[in-house]
Amino acid sequence: MFSNQELSEIKKLLQPDKEIVIVTHYNPDGDAIGSSLGLKHALKNLGIDATVVVPNDFPKFLKWMPEAKQVMVSEFKRKKVAEIFHNADVIFCLDFNTLSRIGFIGEWIARSSAAKILIDHHQMPEEFDYVYSDTSIPATCQMVYHFLEALGLEECISEDSARCLYTGIMTDTGGFRFRSTSATTHRIVANLIEKGADPAQITSDTWDTNTVSRLHLLSLVLSRIEVVKDGTVAILWLKREEMERFGFEKGATEGFVNYGLSVLGVKMSAFFMEDIQDDFIKISFRSKDDLDVNLFSRSYFSGGGHINAAGGRSELSIEDTLERFRNIIEKEDF
Ligand code: 5GP
Ligand code: MN
Repeated sequence: MFSNQELSEIKKLLQPDKEIVIVTHYNPDGDAIGSSLGLKHALKNLGIDATVVVPNDFPKFLKWMPEAKQVMVSEFKRKKVAEIFHNADVIFCLDFNTLSRIGFIGEWIARSSAAKILIDHHQMPEEFDYVYSDTSIPATCQMVYHFLEALGLEECISEDSARCLYTGIMTDTGGFRFRSTSATTHRIVANLIEKGADPAQITSDTWDTNTVSRLHLLSLVLSRIEVVKDGTVAILWLKREEMERFGFEKGATEGFVNYGLSVLGVKMSAFFMEDIQDDFIKISFRSKDDLDVNLFSRSYFSGGGHINAAGGRSELSIEDTLERFRNIIEKEDF
């Protein structure tokens, strides 16, 4: 948590006459949008109308969240977003810790004279003016809750705020299952339910959103799942042409990588996908226990993330990337 000195400085910055911007990472997920909107709704109770900015668009299944439609998508509104950063007094940076994770808007933030406040749970944060970084917490949404509590603003968590914060905790813990899900996480979740978050509604609106074409796409990916290294590493992959054939939509492959991890004996799952827009392979890694995919992805695939969930990229073709991965994995000692 921030020091008491930092908290009192931040509290002074949180005034209705200040321009407050909340920004989160590229390809925003439930925790990114949930923490950003959760904080935005809480700040409303201080009379502050904060602006939420994302680098690129986010999946439809997160758009039910209150005021999700007002989120500024930088790739569609470059000029407006440049202006917002130029005028900002305070920039909250949520659910990422390096400016390279937010694409071209990273430069605008670097140039801005606003106070930059980081709240994030990924490994190895860069420098910001105020840093609350804790890799033991499963979701940035939980950290936003701790932050508001530390400021004495728990009462500002309205029903809208609670619904958003609940969503991010639910998605980043894989439905309250992953390792860093703690008793504290559950206590906070209980408080969020008391404040109006409805577990059935949130689960249904976020996760029961499959289309038949997405299930067909999943069945294709699952039909060729490959397990290597004595049954401990699962490999899944998908080509751009296949995504297009099934009428791919943003976020359609979210969660596919987890199926690899559900295979008995598998400790690491890797999902390789040709990017739908640009010429590179997007990779998702998931693991169990102490197998550190953050380190693995940093070492071999220009990526990063958490110990048990990380992402990376490759500039090779999908075939060559898979070949390289198989070679690397056979030599790794885990
Ligand atoms: P996903 O596989 O869901 O895209 O990402 C898993 C985790 O790794 C997320 O926490 C995400 O922020 C992080 N991550 C994904 N891609 C990258 C990347 O290219 N670089 C870094 N540093 N982190 C990434
Ligand atoms: Mn997160």
